[in-house]
Amino acid sequence: GGACEQKTVRSTCPYCGVGCGVLLTPDGQGGLDVRGDPDHPANRGRLCSKGSALGETLGLGQRLMAPRIRGLDVSWETALQKVADTFRETIAEYGPDSIAFYVSGQLLTEDYYVANKLMKGFIGSANIDTNSRLCMASTVAGHKRAFGTDTVPGTYEDLDEADLIVLVGSNLAWCHPVLYQRILAARRARGTRLVVIDPRRTASCDGAEMHLALEPGTDVALFNRLFREIYAAGAVDQTYLRHTEGFDEALRTACREDSSVTGLSEQQVRDFCRLWIGTEKVVTIFSQGVNQSSSGSDKVNAILNCHLAAGRIGKPGCGPFSVTGQPNAMGGREVGGLANMLACHLDLENADHRAAVRDFWSAPAVPDAPGLKAVDMFRAAGDGRIKALWIIHTNPVVSMPEADAVRDAIANCPFTVISDITGATDTARLADILLPATAWAEKDGTVTNSDRTVSRQRAALPAPGLSRPDWAILAEVGRRMGWTAAFDYQSPAEIFREYAALSGIAETFGRDFDISGLAALSETEYETLAPTRWPITTGRTGGRFFADGRFFHPNGKARLLPVAFRPPAARTVPRYPFRLNTGRTRDQWHTMTRTSLSPRLAAHLAEPFLEIHPQDAQAGSIAAADLVRVESPHGSAILRARITDSVKPGQVFAPIHWTGETAPSARIDALVAAITDPVSGQPESKASVVNVTRL
Ligand code: SF4
Repeated sequence: GGACEQKTVRSTCPYCGVGCGVLLTPDGQGGLDVRGDPDHPANRGRLCSKGSALGETLGLGQRLMAPRIRGLDVSWETALQKVADTFRETIAEYGPDSIAFYVSGQLLTEDYYVANKLMKGFIGSANIDTNSRLCMASTVAGHKRAFGTDTVPGTYEDLDEADLIVLVGSNLAWCHPVLYQRILAARRARGTRLVVIDPRRTASCDGAEMHLALEPGTDVALFNRLFREIYAAGAVDQTYLRHTEGFDEALRTACREDSSVTGLSEQQVRDFCRLWIGTEKVVTIFSQGVNQSSSGSDKVNAILNCHLAAGRIGKPGCGPFSVTGQPNAMGGREVGGLANMLACHLDLENADHRAAVRDFWSAPAVPDAPGLKAVDMFRAAGDGRIKALWIIHTNPVVSMPEADAVRDAIANCPFTVISDITGATDTARLADILLPATAWAEKDGTVTNSDRTVSRQRAALPAPGLSRPDWAILAEVGRRMGWTAAFDYQSPAEIFREYAALSGIAETFGRDFDISGLAALSETEYETLAPTRWPITTGRTGGRFFADGRFFHPNGKARLLPVAFRPPAARTVPRYPFRLNTGRTRDQWHTMTRTSLSPRLAAHLAEPFLEIHPQDAQAGSIAAADLVRVESPHGSAILRARITDSVKPGQVFAPIHWTGETAPSARIDALVAAITDPVSGQPESKASVVNVTRL
């Protein structure tokens, strides 16, 4: 007690899109005691293994403490002047589209807002994209096609009230563990049924009564069959259908489909359709198995078609539900962090939207065409079109498909600025200028989780060395480039107020995203802001969308899309006979910058591995724990074989986390082909073709 008493700070976990609330209490020795926040609506006190080990990840050994130019410590003054001067000179010589920002779902909303404003409003290019492109872009495209806006209709409470939950391409038990626990709790309380649709048998299947191990990439065929069965069973909601258009054509397309390409038995498909149709309260949760596909947007729309046709959307316990990978993937979408979006869910292609944002920012110009999406951005860096690149809190040398080509593109880019909390990543090592940013638990701002809940992240520790918050770094570059008034921010609260006010203008265009009720927050109100689900206006807070059947296309209707199955773009051939699936493990996060610091987390799965079916292992004379070489047309990796029938013959699985820093020959994205969905630009990260040989 007394003078030694440490204040507990409420914040949110920096990992997945569940967005769990945490209570942080300084331990008096530079560390934090981390517990689940019983008052946060996302987790009500629960934490998963990653969240509860956060206290073990705060060591400063790897931290970047000062700005560096080509390895030498310099002052902020020197570093930021160099960044601003080089950007200005590059624009003068090659035009604004020669500059690109590649940012991250790890950014707080305020950081994201300033980055987007600097690029789209002032530099005058739309070349800002985020690693959410690898994560959620197909959902954004699918939502926009169906609803007119990127709206997540439902809430986490729907998971408590559902009678059936279908997980599509989602290992929720490992990737969104607290939501999975929440579903299991509902199951104990009310007998909720659980179906998993995934080529691989994952930990999520343990609690499920049905696992449909469909062939990779055949989700559209399965959901088109469901659509047909909904119609055949007379389960179309004719009243709700009045709020939609496109039904007939979508159904005609679905009727041409043959669900046998899924590889599932007719009995399995019938059982699934009967269960889905017979259960009014059904939530279909989808994640990376749907998104990371060359037909990702079509998969999303195939799912949305079923919910719209059956009128199972906008009601308690019903709806399609996209779960986001990163802590602020949603915030990034809302703030316009993708190259084809404007702030506040406004559209870059819409001249009225552009004019409104330009006026609001008093900006010289807002570009009228989408910028380069992630894969194209690094291609443009590789072929010399991008002359200056700013990468913020992401590690594309590890996480981008065709990662070796991305590494070479960054290495050869004439000017690369990297903001991060450490200089010890594969990407940071390639920087011309490294800028030390504050980390989670040292910075203040907001994030939005998968169910539209805006929560505060709060600082509980001092910023180490010379590190600064990202919004402050970005704003200072904006000022040094000559836009002093536009970037004259003193606090994250000030940025948030501006953003909230802009959302009020967006609302006048009939957009969904509106947090204008927070536009007049005082510093104290911002400091104490409780988790709140948007929309947040003076008249309304939170809840579900689409109960009233009002959508965001100009005619107010939802659209059912005619979508036809397309197989994954890469075909297996004798030289590359295996299909490579990639994904997360339970206890690591992304490229392990933080989670590798926790001994407890490292104990779960200590090294990179390749799951391979016993039959394939035998055919290749591969014994358990043998080292194998995995090769694709784009790169190779050496992994330890885990022989398991959780993958089917002909399919292999490898985790994404290991880096050149942690396991020099296991950067799995070096093998992944940079093939993208033509609508969303999202890469097909789960269906590359590879060869596997014993080392
Ligand atoms: Fe963090 Fe996600 Fe685990 Fe919650 S479920 S503690 S947000 S990693």
